[in-house]
Amino acid sequence: MSDILTIALSKGRILEDTLPLLAEAGIEPAEPPGRSRKLVLDTNREGVKIVILRATDVPTYVQYGAADLGVAGKDVLMEHGGRDLYEPLDLGIARCRMMVAGKPGANEGHDALRVATKFVNITRRYFAEQGRQVETVKLYGSMELAPLAGLADLIVDLVDTGNTLKANGLEPLEHIADISSRLIVNRAAMKMKHRRIKGLIDRLAAAVNARST
Ligand code: AMP
Repeated sequence: MSDILTIALSKGRILEDTLPLLAEAGIEPAEPPGRSRKLVLDTNREGVKIVILRATDVPTYVQYGAADLGVAGKDVLMEHGGRDLYEPLDLGIARCRMMVAGKPGANEGHDALRVATKFVNITRRYFAEQGRQVETVKLYGSMELAPLAGLADLIVDLVDTGNTLKANGLEPLEHIADISSRLIVNRAAMKMKHRRIKGLIDRLAAAVNARST
């Protein structure tokens, strides 16, 4: 196992919210991410690198040890299954809710409903646990369109302000889970690089606590 500590982050909201926390924990990228097309960034710390991935790939990189640590949304972890990963810290960022949504009352009635989502595992698990039969349709984006276009009765999606649903005549109907970004750690790395990883977890935990007090 190499001496390098590799941290996997994803583009967008998680990157924007995680970089200040990492900076408070003493780690800053040598150049601003996005300035170039570089996917591996050096940092101000010798032997610490940041890799920028697609959000859904972060747990996979950490699971297989291609990255030692990562930051992933609870939604991505629930969908991935989170096997072989430690999840030592809730970073309290990128907060939102996983919801069932649709036109008002669309979740009532007994007919088998069709649910469009990119979170098919979460959706199947949620409805199965309640003994409700649904047909799941996998989409890759713009879930809100599905009920309007007659593709599905319901959607399962992340909701923050609720504005996207409202703008499309939809309502949040059922709460599945509260979501925020989590620090995840490869199991073998946690043993082999324990001192450095434990130090980083402690500094991040202090930065998260300082924000909530
Ligand atoms: P809103 O209109 O504020 O309810 O935001 C809803 C849209 O933003 C949906 O398309 C969601 O998929 C997306 N969204 C909201 N919160 C998050 C989050 N924490 N991470 C990723 N996507 C999000």
